[in-house]
Amino acid sequence: MKIRTKQFRIGPGDAVDLKKLPTKVEPIYSSKDDYKLLLETQVAELSDLQQRLFAIRRNALLVIIQATDAAGKDGAIRHVMSGVNPQGCQVHSFGRPSTEELSHDFLWRSARLLPARGTIGIFNRSYYEEVLVVRVHPGILQSRNLPDAISNDPEIWQQRLCSIRDHEQHLTSNGTQIVKIFLHVSKDEQKKRLIERIDTPAKNWKSKIGDVEERKFWKQYRKAYEEAMSQTSTREAPWFVVPADDSLSARLYVSEIILDALKAMDLSLPKLSEERVLELKETRKRLLED
Ligand code: AMP
Ligand code: MG
Repeated sequence: MKIRTKQFRIGPGDAVDLKKLPTKVEPIYSSKDDYKLLLETQVAELSDLQQRLFAIRRNALLVIIQATDAAGKDGAIRHVMSGVNPQGCQVHSFGRPSTEELSHDFLWRSARLLPARGTIGIFNRSYYEEVLVVRVHPGILQSRNLPDAISNDPEIWQQRLCSIRDHEQHLTSNGTQIVKIFLHVSKDEQKKRLIERIDTPAKNWKSKIGDVEERKFWKQYRKAYEEAMSQTSTREAPWFVVPADDSLSARLYVSEIILDALKAMDLSLPKLSEERVLELKETRKRLLED
């Protein structure tokens, strides 16, 4: 069965209205076993393409995953990337910036962690937090030691979104393909999951009081996300709003978005020249005679 993701893609210039975009769609698998089979096929294909990416070392792939707490970011990354050679894939999670990170511009900390040619980089949260959590809580910006003219500039969010657009454009024009995924969960589903974290001892470690507090800012986050996605979804670095109330479907969609991005690159292995083929034959012969 073909997994389709085009309907979740935000077109360049589209105004995003998250209330109108689904958090839930008909599952694309018929049973848990069917899901496992589907994911296995996806992972196998991903692993194959990633090996080519690694062998050719021309392009890099950056996957940005953003969402509210308990939307399934970690689970999606764990399951989708399970079959990929760890040498060619790195996951970076971005929490509160350190003092050193805060003494630089807001793109600095992630710029150092961008994927090298031939590899896949996954950002679990990213520089987008700088136009999300920082925007929702003005106190964070005020604590950042920025020149007053910048921290009090009403245009600061536009400036930052413009920096992000330019940064991503710079990356894509240097061979890094970018896809950005927003896992879209409903407030009710998040509540269910946060309660489950408390009720399940093995999940207690994930439970943070702050996550519950942030629910009060649901609308402000929604607005910040809508504006960020509307302004930074481009043809080269598109956003996908993936319905995530059903985490299994969400994982399948995420895998397909990553697969599509890899397939859009030319990953055919270079054809060997006749001399090289001869050289290999010679080397083989020598090894046999050794
Ligand atoms: P988690 O992903 O659950 O480990 O949470 C990471 C926390 O770090 C979230 O509450 C984010 O909002 C926060 N965070 C990530 N990036 C930034 C940032 N640039 N500034 C402030 N807080 C951030
Ligand atoms: Mg969390």
